[in-house]
Amino acid sequence: MSFISRRLSEIKPSPTLMLAQKAEDLKTQGRDIINLTVGEPDFQTPSHICEGARVAMLSGQTKYTAVAGTLALRKAISEKFKNDNNLKYDPNQILVSNGGKQVIFNAMMATINPGDEVIIPAPFWVSYADIVALFEGKPVIVSTSPKNNFKLLSEDLDKVITPKTKWLFLNSPSNPTGSIYSREDLQKLAKVLLKHPHVHILTDDMYEYLIYDNLEFTTIASVEPQLYDRTLTVNGVSKAYSMTGWRIGYAGGPKDLIKAMMTVQSQSTTNPCSIAQAAALCALEGSREFLKNWLTEFTERRNLVVQLLAKIPELKLIPPQGAFYAFTDCHGVINKTTPTGSKIESDSDFAAYLLEDQGVALVPGSSFGLGPYIRISFATNQTVLKDACERIQQAVLKLSD
Ligand code: PLP
Repeated sequence: MSFISRRLSEIKPSPTLMLAQKAEDLKTQGRDIINLTVGEPDFQTPSHICEGARVAMLSGQTKYTAVAGTLALRKAISEKFKNDNNLKYDPNQILVSNGGKQVIFNAMMATINPGDEVIIPAPFWVSYADIVALFEGKPVIVSTSPKNNFKLLSEDLDKVITPKTKWLFLNSPSNPTGSIYSREDLQKLAKVLLKHPHVHILTDDMYEYLIYDNLEFTTIASVEPQLYDRTLTVNGVSKAYSMTGWRIGYAGGPKDLIKAMMTVQSQSTTNPCSIAQAAALCALEGSREFLKNWLTEFTERRNLVVQLLAKIPELKLIPPQGAFYAFTDCHGVINKTTPTGSKIESDSDFAAYLLEDQGVALVPGSSFGLGPYIRISFATNQTVLKDACERIQQAVLKLSD
């Protein structure tokens, strides 16, 4: 019998983290690699936030904090929810964790019994299904279509809800597609959810501030207040403030759920890092003026990638509305042959070929539950992006029928 638990044998390590590591390893070996796997902005954490951390360290905020996070930070999060999302979460309805990922992990550990079903629209952020499976829940993957910009349709949701459904996951703007659910989209889903009071909703709003073309951000508990009591609204500072390494995520939700998630956290990491919490407090209380420049830069990068990929007839991209990923259809390269004579049978083959032939590392769509696609992260500068898209074009040109 294996020493490793049966449960773990069902779980894959995060493919994006694995691919990012592979790209870095190849770089260390001296290969000319462009790494477009990363899911983090390339900007520095703004200096006023770093300064907040320095002051916290020197003023002795270096001890355990309350399990749910410092009261000061939870009050600031409560204000954020009120001001930005029109949601009233008292500080005792808020949990701060080591990143959004731990929030989701805590929520699943606190609620999933073996066999419980969790509806996850595909393509999805890589960790959702594995976290659910870790607790012997059943991920119910519902495919979406590019025709609908990869958004879950209410009629498809209606078909997959069963008495065992515990959660529906929503993610807008989406990783990997950048799609945004409009108010009308959410109203339609809410109509179905209101018929099924046993279903809870986990909405992952991590990319809330990274939205292009002045589109509106909305979140389901504010669109349909009748769903407030069964919605966990997840967010964090990782993406919007370029604080991925600080590991601070948070959620607002029903008191009893938050309490159960606190119990989980109290037996794992206790609290998130006290210094990172102080930094997150500065982020939430400080000005978001810097975001304007970041958004301008991200918009230019998105436009550049859209324009350069349009030159490659085998690839198709719906311009992303938010986040910083170009989820690119690569049906056009399937069954083509590489210069070394191997056949491209899947998006993983295509990603492996791009890495081998041109040193471009990106993530195959099948890791997100929908192939054949590739996810190109445009969280890097325009010179690198231009080089990467040209290399992709070169690689595609070398393919034969
Ligand atoms: N949710 C989505 C959709 C993400 O893309 C990510 C990170 O890539 C997370 C959650 C996790 O965020 P964190 O780094 O705060 O754990």
